[in-house]
Amino acid sequence: MIRCANPLAQYEAHRDEIDAAIASALRGNRYILGPEVEAFEHELAQYVGVSHGVGVGNGTDALELAIRGLGIGEGDEVITVSHTAVATVAAIESAGATPVLVDVDPVCYTLDPAQLEEVRTERTRAAIAVHLYGQPADLDAIVPFCRAHDLALIEDVSQAHGATLHGKRLGTFGRAATFSFYPTKNLGAIGDGGMVTTNDAALAKRVRMLREYGWQTRYVSDIAGRNTRLDELQAAILRVKLRHLDDDNAKRRAIAARYTAALSNSGLVLPQTRSGAEHVFHLYVVTTGRRKEIMDALGTQEIFPGIHYPVPVHCQAAYKGRIRTARSMTVTERLASEVLSLPMYPELSAADVSSVIEALANA
Ligand SMILES: *Cc1c(COP(=O)(O)O)cnc(C)c1O
Repeated sequence: MIRCANPLAQYEAHRDEIDAAIASALRGNRYILGPEVEAFEHELAQYVGVSHGVGVGNGTDALELAIRGLGIGEGDEVITVSHTAVATVAAIESAGATPVLVDVDPVCYTLDPAQLEEVRTERTRAAIAVHLYGQPADLDAIVPFCRAHDLALIEDVSQAHGATLHGKRLGTFGRAATFSFYPTKNLGAIGDGGMVTTNDAALAKRVRMLREYGWQTRYVSDIAGRNTRLDELQAAILRVKLRHLDDDNAKRRAIAARYTAALSNSGLVLPQTRSGAEHVFHLYVVTTGRRKEIMDALGTQEIFPGIHYPVPVHCQAAYKGRIRTARSMTVTERLASEVLSLPMYPELSAADVSSVIEALANA
């Protein structure tokens, strides 16, 4: 069986180091927000190229706390895309703010900067650029727009750990960046985890307070906060995985190169990499008008691709009819019925890649 993602294969690839890290964390006797979390916060911030990292419980909470840390909430609008993990939009609402959704561009499937002006109002306070599938949103257009209109830019880097634009790591372009360490992500825990990174010391301090009841001093709540903490076991595992991230991303790129070479005449629309970007292929997403047929054919070979995402956020029952969007959401709505994520993870074997390519050729 060949799955879209396979976190067990990643554990097995680094088993000795991970087991040792777990054993050491178990003996540490500080199971939440201890030295492993602190070390991982420094190491990820340094890897990204910013000054501060604050570990939290998951990537959704990282977004919520970044928004709240920026002082954005009730009555404020935050612009993002509908073609994303529902987490991005859920986090805006958890922070008390109002999401406003725009379409994606038809080539890279990331936030269409041409629609920002259409939806901007005097209540707009921030934009969240989702670096979807492993490559940057159109920061060359989004960054100047945010600067011109005094909007805070938050980068959602949950699908693009280690990717770059113009040689700079994603996470260095906005006021804050957020990461998820969900097990299937390019940098994945064996459980939940997330982080907010920033160069803004005051923002880092507020996020640090918000993640634990508004405390600077234990049991003293200076502001109303939450409980969303990163634990020592996950941090210890993530420190191991971070050391392998660049290698693992290179493996993903090599698999992507094989797919691209083999499928160029297949009739599938293949992923395009934005100019100036290094893509880290969290997902290798093709589009096709024959998705169901192709999935059925692959299924008979025990190959199970994914769909990211089958229903746009603004069409989901929880949001439909009450979320403001740009007038045209046609790319988002088309992608929901056409996207197909081929199996993609660093440990996917050459033989398995060949099987996927062959099954697609037969389909
Ligand atoms: C995975 C993901 C998140 C949320 O991550 P969790 O850790 O599952 O809360 C947010 N945004 C995007 C784009 C994601 O892919």
